[in-house]
Amino acid sequence: VTKERTKERAKPAVAEILLPTLPLPELVRNHHLPVIEPLLDQWRQTQNVGHAFLVTGVEGIGKRETVYFLSQWLLCEKNSLPISAATEEPAALGLFGSKPAPQKTSAEASSTLPCNACPSCRSIAQGQAINFTEVRAEPSESGRSQTLKIDQFRSIKESQGFGAYQGRYRVFLITDADRMTGAAGNSLLKLLEEPPPGWIFFLTAADSSLVLPTLVSRCQKIRLRPFAQITLESLLLEAEVPALRRKTCAALAQGSWKRALRLASDEAWLKREELLQMLADPSSQLDRWVDWASQENERFVFLVDQLENLSHQFIRATLVSGTSTQSLEKGAAQTHFDRVLKTKRTPEEARAFWEHCANKLARARQTVGLPLNRKLVVQDLLYAWALAS
Ligand SMILES: [Zn+2]
Repeated sequence: VTKERTKERAKPAVAEILLPTLPLPELVRNHHLPVIEPLLDQWRQTQNVGHAFLVTGVEGIGKRETVYFLSQWLLCEKNSLPISAATEEPAALGLFGSKPAPQKTSAEASSTLPCNACPSCRSIAQGQAINFTEVRAEPSESGRSQTLKIDQFRSIKESQGFGAYQGRYRVFLITDADRMTGAAGNSLLKLLEEPPPGWIFFLTAADSSLVLPTLVSRCQKIRLRPFAQITLESLLLEAEVPALRRKTCAALAQGSWKRALRLASDEAWLKREELLQMLADPSSQLDRWVDWASQENERFVFLVDQLENLSHQFIRATLVSGTSTQSLEKGAAQTHFDRVLKTKRTPEEARAFWEHCANKLARARQTVGLPLNRKLVVQDLLYAWALAS
């Protein structure tokens, strides 16, 4: 038993899904296009690209992938943008004569995409581009949290003599700029204050409030928006996720593309099934679930998300026509619903019970990250559900 438990503990609740970064799925690109197209138009018309950008949006929305796309566009041999001196304003165009901003022809309007065929486009897609560098957070010594460290920026600085490669841009992607040590942040700040000509930095973070304000103030903001549930369902369909899972996972994902995919994975879906089984027959598995969910933050959030989704489903089911369960998943969910209804006698009482559970969940969610006894919080949550039997 001990061996089994250790094995289970080592496994994350929901495995990270590594997708090929490019090409960006069309649905994802089209969703973000209202935000990135004006930027591309601006670059094309002014022939001037800024040198620092902060891309924000909820986890799993495609920030990193969007930067790959923008970088591919910037470095594509089809888009021969001249390198603008980073400190100059767009008005500096006059230096090159009285060249008017080129009018956008219909052909250009439809050429929003990188060609995806030239050597530059291909090398970025393969992660081998010499003028595109991604800096990612590295695991700390304890292996728990990941941070961006100063050495990573020192080596960028040291490569300065290298300049812009063959007269083209050099692009740096700083993923998770909110996980930066103070020293790393200051090192990056120096680079942003005096960027070598042709260097462009893209920082990503869930929210700009999490990034050093001195860095934020130097960046142009690109705010990516959450996905609509219907778009997530289409993305799950494209990823060949079974029909049964699509609606639930799209609802659970709260606007995040990667999160929807993670929740639809066999592993996560199986865990959800197990949770439903536990709710159908809590006595046998309750303590095992308390142990599992109180071990890691990620698992705790998984449990709270799933239970919240279920409580809303159950509440809806009591509202439809009293005892109709058409909107429920079959199987264990139905068993749990029926049992609570029987114990509570009326749909109104059952609804009041699940509303009580939903309130508890909302409070539990606020404890994420607080130094509380996680086990007590999970016990409190799950025992409430189990008491209904
Ligand atoms: Zn190209």
